[in-house]
Amino acid sequence: MKVLKFGGGCLKDAAAIRKLPGIIKNFDENIIMVVSAFGKLTNFLEEAYDTKNMLLVNDYFISIMTNLSLPKLIINEILSQVKYSNSKAELLSTGELISSKILSCYLQKENFKHTLLNATHIIKTNSNGVNSSVNWEETKSGFQKKSHVLPLLTQGFIASYSNNDNFEITCLGREGSDYSAAIFGKLFNADQVVLFKDVDGIYSEDPKKNASAKLFSTLTYDEAFNLSNKGNTVIHPKTIEPLKEKEIPILIKNFNNLNIKGTLIS
Ligand code: ASP
Ligand code: MG
Repeated sequence: MKVLKFGGGCLKDAAAIRKLPGIIKNFDENIIMVVSAFGKLTNFLEEAYDTKNMLLVNDYFISIMTNLSLPKLIINEILSQVKYSNSKAELLSTGELISSKILSCYLQKENFKHTLLNATHIIKTNSNGVNSSVNWEETKSGFQKKSHVLPLLTQGFIASYSNNDNFEITCLGREGSDYSAAIFGKLFNADQVVLFKDVDGIYSEDPKKNASAKLFSTLTYDEAFNLSNKGNTVIHPKTIEPLKEKEIPILIKNFNNLNIKGTLIS
């Protein structure tokens, strides 16, 4: 099975979202799709946390759902779940939770059968708000107790902490949804984790700043880790370790141009 992760930069508006069914058709049913919040939603939510004003966030969701021609009833149902929260992690998680819900409704409309899985029920962390660390033991034991029917659609970035009766939503740190894809890859013992991005792959330098930057077709786990650790932002450094440990290859593909081979990390 494969984990396919779609970043917010890929799924930034309705036109981009409409490309998704065509892309997942290239794979069989043995997939988990991990999505982050659409576009710059997490930034809008951070602003909303400070201003306690959800207007921008609501408008963004309304515009995407309207442009995807979702039925009015569904739009209102989804909007009723968008609420301000005093917990920053819970508020930020709205980005991924609502984005995945919208995608799920859209994929259903396109007759792509799947199950929407709430990642906060799988990935367990300590209680450190938006920058929580994975509790692997709890995550693994909870995962093994459940059965999972593929294809699945789930969220990056979000997780939870539970202690007795207390359940709180946590996050894995900004830009953490690559890491979520790696966590799912490790739990499911995937054959490959494909990270769809709005760039061609990993370059030696920023290609926007240096036209002679080289696109790597292959990298070892250590090379990729060193590059991302030194500030190359294409892939989150935490993504490498769980996949290196299980020798699961990572493929970085340009969502907008699948003809480009991308970068394979193995
Ligand atoms: N949506 C989250 C963020 O923007 C996680 C991610 O995109 O990886 O930080
Ligand atoms: Mg994001």
